[in-house]
Amino acid sequence: MKKNWIKGVLAAALCSVTLGFNSPNITPSQEENIDIIVKSNLSVEEKVEQILQQLTLEEKVGQMTQITLDVITKGENVFVSDEPLSLDKKLLEEAIKKYKIGSVLNTANNRARTPEKWNEVISQIQKLAMKEIGVPVLYGVDAIHGTTYTDGATFFPQQIGMAATWNTELNRQGCEVTAYETRASSIPWDFSPVLDMGRNPSWPRIWETYGEDVYLTSQMGIAAIDGYEGTNNDLSDNTKVAACIKHFLGYGSEKSGKDRTPSYLPEIELREHYLPSYKAAIDAGAHTIMINSGIINGTPVHASYKLLTELLKEELGFEGLVVTDWADIENIHNRDKVADSHKEAVKQSINAGIDMSMVPYNFNFCDHLVELVNEGEVSMDRIDDAVRRILKVKMELGLFDTPAPKVKDYPNFGSKEHEQIAYNAASESITLLKNDKEILPLKKGTKILVTGPNANSMRTLNGGWTYSWQGEKVEEFAQDYNTIFEAVQNNFGKENVNLVHGVEYNHEGHYYEEKNIDIQAAVKAAASSDVILLCLGENTYTETPGNLHDLYISQNQRKLAEALAATGKPVVLILNEGRPRLISQFESEMQAVVHTYLPGNFGGDALSDILIGKVNPSGKLPYSYPMYPNSLGTYDHKPSEASEKMEGMYDYNSSLPFQYAFGFGLSYTTFEYADLKVSKQDFGPDDKVTVSVEVKNTGKVEGKEVVQLYTKDMYASITPDNKRLRRFEKVNLKPGESKKVTFTLSGRDLAFVDADLKWTVEKGEFRFMVGDQQANVNVTNTKKFDKQSN
Ligand code: BGC
Repeated sequence: MKKNWIKGVLAAALCSVTLGFNSPNITPSQEENIDIIVKSNLSVEEKVEQILQQLTLEEKVGQMTQITLDVITKGENVFVSDEPLSLDKKLLEEAIKKYKIGSVLNTANNRARTPEKWNEVISQIQKLAMKEIGVPVLYGVDAIHGTTYTDGATFFPQQIGMAATWNTELNRQGCEVTAYETRASSIPWDFSPVLDMGRNPSWPRIWETYGEDVYLTSQMGIAAIDGYEGTNNDLSDNTKVAACIKHFLGYGSEKSGKDRTPSYLPEIELREHYLPSYKAAIDAGAHTIMINSGIINGTPVHASYKLLTELLKEELGFEGLVVTDWADIENIHNRDKVADSHKEAVKQSINAGIDMSMVPYNFNFCDHLVELVNEGEVSMDRIDDAVRRILKVKMELGLFDTPAPKVKDYPNFGSKEHEQIAYNAASESITLLKNDKEILPLKKGTKILVTGPNANSMRTLNGGWTYSWQGEKVEEFAQDYNTIFEAVQNNFGKENVNLVHGVEYNHEGHYYEEKNIDIQAAVKAAASSDVILLCLGENTYTETPGNLHDLYISQNQRKLAEALAATGKPVVLILNEGRPRLISQFESEMQAVVHTYLPGNFGGDALSDILIGKVNPSGKLPYSYPMYPNSLGTYDHKPSEASEKMEGMYDYNSSLPFQYAFGFGLSYTTFEYADLKVSKQDFGPDDKVTVSVEVKNTGKVEGKEVVQLYTKDMYASITPDNKRLRRFEKVNLKPGESKKVTFTLSGRDLAFVDADLKWTVEKGEFRFMVGDQQANVNVTNTKKFDKQSN
């Protein structure tokens, strides 16, 4: 619809009254009207309200629409763009002039661009949007472990590795760098962090999470928000981005472990193990949220009024912008068959509480939503609520003033300082899981055979969402960084380090395909080595393409491990994988095991420095590493999942064996705990109680230890979790040094979700546990807390 002339005059009059603007003889354009509002000294909320009044229904619906970049670039079709990349004037005009779209995401042709190219493309989009609508476009990408689609950006460990550092400050610093480098690419919106729970080891997005525990995830999530948005969430600072916490709620709880398959999740579990990380990030001020692509208890989350409006917007009080995941309104119709037409799907999702649709390939959403409003099926209030939220983020980001900042204003892009933080994070994430006879660290001069499909690959060090969605273009962009083989050569000398793969990935095929299987070549090369560095794991994948049928590590890799172990040479197993692939068939034959997760561009260097002893490993597992495919579980399981040995007529036990436990990780030094003290033996639910413990470095080298406080509810009206992580702190200790670590808790920290879905702490006995220390205390009376109390 063309702008209505009367409306324009009214708006101008309104502006002149409200803003004290002297009405000129000619009617100002919408761009001018909005500019006046933006430059006024009204509050953000007032400005948003004024701008909202300027917009037609079509413009409002346009604000709620997000398309992917390929749709507006020159090229064969919406899926393919020409290279070198350029915008298609006609298509851009269709998007902005005709459909008034408010947001664009992603890169084109699924590849990274230079900051200069980003600036060129986004400046052109913004110029037209400002001219036609007076409202800038909100550009978003998934910068999830660094600025995914920018050539030269700094790449950190993936979230699972950041969680393994158990160092929230490092995570904050990493996200701060990512925010800076994303903004340097003219992109102000980041679809990160993932606050879903990694509780099913086969889920292909485990590596995008902070692991299985909701407290660790919450703490890492808060640090991520602080890094992306700044501790005061002031987005007008143009080194910050708006964070997008995702994917609300219950994503990753699919029973099959396959991406986007149905979940059956009772509310009691949803609230206990999935909701707290979102609440923590919302309380930390996160500006935007993305919705779970999945289906819970039969309802697509995108169509759930209960989850999006009642829980998210009303109960949690989320005032930010709610965006769908990729094509998820269409999915309600096409995939889930809950709406019998696309238009019905639009109605269900917008009425459920969606503010912006990541459409992303066409404009049907706009046409359908305009019709629905005109037919009275979606209220104007709902539209205004959505657009208000969108405009507010744009306003707070300062996009009306600076739609695309200049690249030269970001001199620290890809700097040494940023790289150092990425290296620190990689070295604190790597987790030493086994070290028989202290084979590690290795002596300089050791002759090393580096073998396995992950031995010489930047791609596998980084994982997905690196220069492209699936990570298949990493080698093209990451030539300046060191693979494991190269980094080991640098520390141990070229003459001492030999590379024979034995098994390789088929980089042109599916992530699970392997080729050039020549195990005998590796066995032969082992003869002239002192130690075998066996680098196993997975090739890169992201989301559904990473679905898996068998959690055991591949047959070829297993055979390689067994053949090398049979040589009698010591084998150091290096794991480089997005999820814990089972190694129980040959683990006992490995002298040492080091888990690198997906450590990013500095993972090779960090690992090599650990192998030579320059860095003392300090990572701890953020998930339980399973031993068998039918014994999957989490450390906070229920008592009946791992009962003790039953004596009597039937002599059996029902254990839950893990290859390595949650929170576990070795060091080159040893730590001892002593003197656990609790300030009060008996305390009420509202009392504060402090728990202190002495930790001492009893070994010969300096090292970092993660002091982990767990509690156990001895008896409760709902069968209690085995134990729960309540606090942690990473401390650095010199040999012989000891430190007293003190944690403060209250009764709320011991609460669980009861049968009435209320957080409750019940009268009775609790156990506090740190290392091998423990103390039992009593809570003196029962209290049910408000649903969202802290
Ligand atoms: C993923 C999201 C991502 C979005 C945009 C989806 O397929 O599930 O995590 O943010 O794509 O790239």
